[in-house]
Amino acid sequence: MARKLKAGFFSFTGDEGCMIVLLELISDRFDELSQKMEIAYWHVLRSKKWRDINDFDVAIIEGAVSTNGEVERLKDIRSRAKKVVAVGSCATTGAPSNHRNFFDERRLGEIDSVIRRFGYREKVQPLKDFVKVDDEVPGCPVMEEPFLQVMQKYFKEFGVG
Ligand code: SF4
Repeated sequence: MARKLKAGFFSFTGDEGCMIVLLELISDRFDELSQKMEIAYWHVLRSKKWRDINDFDVAIIEGAVSTNGEVERLKDIRSRAKKVVAVGSCATTGAPSNHRNFFDERRLGEIDSVIRRFGYREKVQPLKDFVKVDDEVPGCPVMEEPFLQVMQKYFKEFGVG
């Protein structure tokens, strides 16, 4: 059987809008992409736990980092993937999920109890502040063509198709 790119799709802090776009994109091009890509993990599609998988070719990650638990999960995913791609502006820059980073003292005071109750970090940050990111795809939501270009690069690099 031909080699496929083993991919995992992960969501951090955001509204999952990027994953909806990617789900639609892959579904529109299913005949072509299913020949080249194995979706080993995507929480909306697969029940298998990602921690059972140690050899992702690529981890595709949306959302920013807002809790210490997310920092640990991100590092864990990084250790299981040859490549990490940050998709969408939350993952690449933190925005718009980092809106509260720019609150003044008064507004910060208003959300202080929520921040402490749920153990949020002081700032919401992009993925690259914590792990090596191999590629970034901009957009809110993520732009389809640049995403496909990154995948094409990996298909070539990993000898797929
Ligand atoms: S970049 Fe935009 S669409 Fe993507 S998760 Fe963040 S807010 Fe949602």
